[in-house]
Amino acid sequence: MSLNFELDGDEATTRATSKISRREGVDRSAPLVLNGKASFVELLGVYVNGKALVNEAEFAIENDLMTIKSDALPASGAFTLVVETKFQPVKNTELSGLYKSSGTFCTQCEAEGFRSITYYPDRPDVMSIFTTRIVADKTQCPVLLSNGNLIKSEDLGNNKHAATWMDPWRKPCYLFALVAGDLAMIEDKFVTMSGREVALRIYAQHKNIDRCGFAMGSLQRAMKWDEERFGLEYDLDLFNIVAVDDFNMGAMENKSLNIFNSRLVLASQESATDATFERIESVIGHEYFHNYTGNRITCRDWFQLSLKEGLTVFRDQEFTCDLHSRAVKRIADVRYLRAAQFAEDASPLAHPVRPESYQKIDNFYTLTVYEKGAELIRMYHTLLGREGFRKGFDLYFERHDGQAVTTDDFFRAMSDANSTDIEKLKLWYSQAGTPALEAAGVYDEVAKTYALTLTQTLPKTNDVNGAAENKKPQLIPVSIGLVGADGKDMVLSGEIKCEGDSKVTLNDSKTTAVCRLTDKKQTFTFKGINSKPVPSILRGFSAPVKLTITPELTTDELLFLLANDSDEFNRWEASQKIATSILHRACRKHNANESLEESDVNVTSDPSWAKYVDACRGIIRDATAGKLDRAWVEEALSFPATTQLIQDLAPGVNPVNTYKVRKAFAHSFALEARADLEAALATCDAEAAGLAYEVDGPQVSRRALRGYALRMLGTIGDVGGMLSTAYSAAQNMTDTVAALGALCGHDNHATHKNAAFDDFLHKWEDDNNVSCTWLRMAAAEAGAGDIAAVDEMKAIMARAVYDAKNPNKFYSLIGGFAGGNVPGFHADDGSGYAFVSDVLLSTDAINPQAASRMASPFAKWRLYDDKRQGLMKAQLQRLLAAKLSPNLFEIISKAMQD
Ligand SMILES: [Zn+2]
Repeated sequence: MSLNFELDGDEATTRATSKISRREGVDRSAPLVLNGKASFVELLGVYVNGKALVNEAEFAIENDLMTIKSDALPASGAFTLVVETKFQPVKNTELSGLYKSSGTFCTQCEAEGFRSITYYPDRPDVMSIFTTRIVADKTQCPVLLSNGNLIKSEDLGNNKHAATWMDPWRKPCYLFALVAGDLAMIEDKFVTMSGREVALRIYAQHKNIDRCGFAMGSLQRAMKWDEERFGLEYDLDLFNIVAVDDFNMGAMENKSLNIFNSRLVLASQESATDATFERIESVIGHEYFHNYTGNRITCRDWFQLSLKEGLTVFRDQEFTCDLHSRAVKRIADVRYLRAAQFAEDASPLAHPVRPESYQKIDNFYTLTVYEKGAELIRMYHTLLGREGFRKGFDLYFERHDGQAVTTDDFFRAMSDANSTDIEKLKLWYSQAGTPALEAAGVYDEVAKTYALTLTQTLPKTNDVNGAAENKKPQLIPVSIGLVGADGKDMVLSGEIKCEGDSKVTLNDSKTTAVCRLTDKKQTFTFKGINSKPVPSILRGFSAPVKLTITPELTTDELLFLLANDSDEFNRWEASQKIATSILHRACRKHNANESLEESDVNVTSDPSWAKYVDACRGIIRDATAGKLDRAWVEEALSFPATTQLIQDLAPGVNPVNTYKVRKAFAHSFALEARADLEAALATCDAEAAGLAYEVDGPQVSRRALRGYALRMLGTIGDVGGMLSTAYSAAQNMTDTVAALGALCGHDNHATHKNAAFDDFLHKWEDDNNVSCTWLRMAAAEAGAGDIAAVDEMKAIMARAVYDAKNPNKFYSLIGGFAGGNVPGFHADDGSGYAFVSDVLLSTDAINPQAASRMASPFAKWRLYDDKRQGLMKAQLQRLLAAKLSPNLFEIISKAMQD
């Protein structure tokens, strides 16, 4: 495939020359069918072996397909096809294909953007060697980049120049990339494990180039990690990253030319929070890791998307775990999985990790494909162990390097490389829904046994094979420890009896057992258990399931686990369970109250409250004294989000009351723990004084604890002055955002909040990324003052800081409202729903991918009370009646299904 691009002002002219031959066994009468977006791409000519084809007589274009009749093709052998097109990248507001972002030409071809450039078999299993020549104006586009190696530079006179790139690795067109513009660059290098030197370059707008250093370091760490953990060495002499402002997704792994949303590259002490730094490192890693898992071995078709995404998310999670705190990363990932992917699984948008059908593949870049897909890979890892997993991974490359394959191929490699029977793990690819796991433990004092009966239930889902009776029991790895009265893990050295065709494996210290649940219900009996244990079930969250334990663990048992469990994930889980049960009781009590005020909620009379607060205060003190990992403590002390509580208690939930109950909980907690919170804040500030800013473990953990203390103190009435001071004294973005966040959500320090908000916007208005932080917070706070939420949102949209065509700004403002402003979005007059529908309609006309990504809050209508269900359904019907893009239509029509 040889591509020639002429970029002239706002226009692109292309000539695509490909060598094609009829596959063996394909009938002589079969036509050649190519994909191409006729509404965007103007066809200038089609040539076979140099002869121009005649429209209608020799080829036809219909429904975005070009069909070249068999008579127009040679009877046998290879032939040359030339397709010439013309289009206007500047008018490409969908940001799919070749478009212009802040003056820079750039591409996004996954999944089906290449057809907006030229007519081509746009599917991942058609792989070719690409050579790309780019011609452009020297002043406007001094930088010309594509995949592979630069093989030729030409000065064409007339202030024009050309660059020719050749990528020696075969690839599908979704991995094609082109960048042309006036960009600044930083360069460094990496020496691979075999001693080869690779040049590393990061390109960004001139004004942002001094914020690319952290991304460069992240890339070097990722390259080293992939060599050490998976034995994978980079396969070219050059690796480029380009940061652009207008990008629908996070980043894209195009071979050797990764294109990034600039929010995931640019970072400095002043502009990025610790969370942003960590996210940048993980996404730089993710895209780099795709070079093998995705690029060298790619997907046969888009149903297999999780083949590359689930595996690569698992790899980037492990990268972060190996570099930082494994427990904190695992907790954060699970919190996200439960809050977002479990919600998707419970909604009409539920689908298996390997979907059965789709209208627009763009709609399947989902949490299920990515996050649940990664959990599925993690289960292989848990079942096969680190070595067994690596054996399977190596066999996968031995068999399939350079091919486009399926999740079944991955499964077979893992299975063939190991003797363990994992057959029923395969069902996780095809069955949607979050399994429910029930664990019932019985201790027999006489026989000295602990018998644990595990039962799995798969829910009905809305997808093609979603009926409950179609679903078969899956292989679920359940990691278990038994904690003795002394607070130590019991050694599980006695015999373990499994029912049916199952097995248990023990970890090296024989304190954690992985029970393989393969049937609907099985009992695992541990012998030689001399005293009644407290069970620690699903350690490390060994499977993406909803666990219930019977008999339910008492508050005392949970506090015992919180203090003693050797598994840091389950220690965190214990704290969450106590807080959750208190919140659930209060939410149930107040759900139906039409005029609930925060002051009506009294959580302090809950039977578990005093013990919970005592334990948490102890943890705060220990963290302040440096006896506990402060980043873990921040996770352990944070209580479940409103969206999580709504999901737990659905259907029939009044979301605004849930929000008020949670606020009352935080307020009551802060009042009781005030002294400890103030001490934590003072200690953190004293420790930070005079210290140079670093993004390292101890400093990040300290800022996490400090942010928590500030946030909690912010819920108390008259502390606005203290928060204002914290805001003005902040030396870095983490502390700035912590202070701003603490000022939010409470009308009692509105003046302080408004002053800080104005100051922040004034400082960052011209920064496309940092201003998104303001938009997100402003969206969450809309309606907190005297102006109605929707009116305030409209006023923000009219301000210069907002740009409806920039996906980051759109996601921040509209997503920040629908996802982060519970009283505003769920206002009981339906105004929040109507507002978001209006915005979806107007965005759909500009950028359908962006619109459909923001439509998912409507798919959750069944969670809420009758009145809100009715209001949301009315908006869904209104949307359906409008002329929608296929992207948005698919989401909205699915959301309506019963
Ligand atoms: Zn990816």
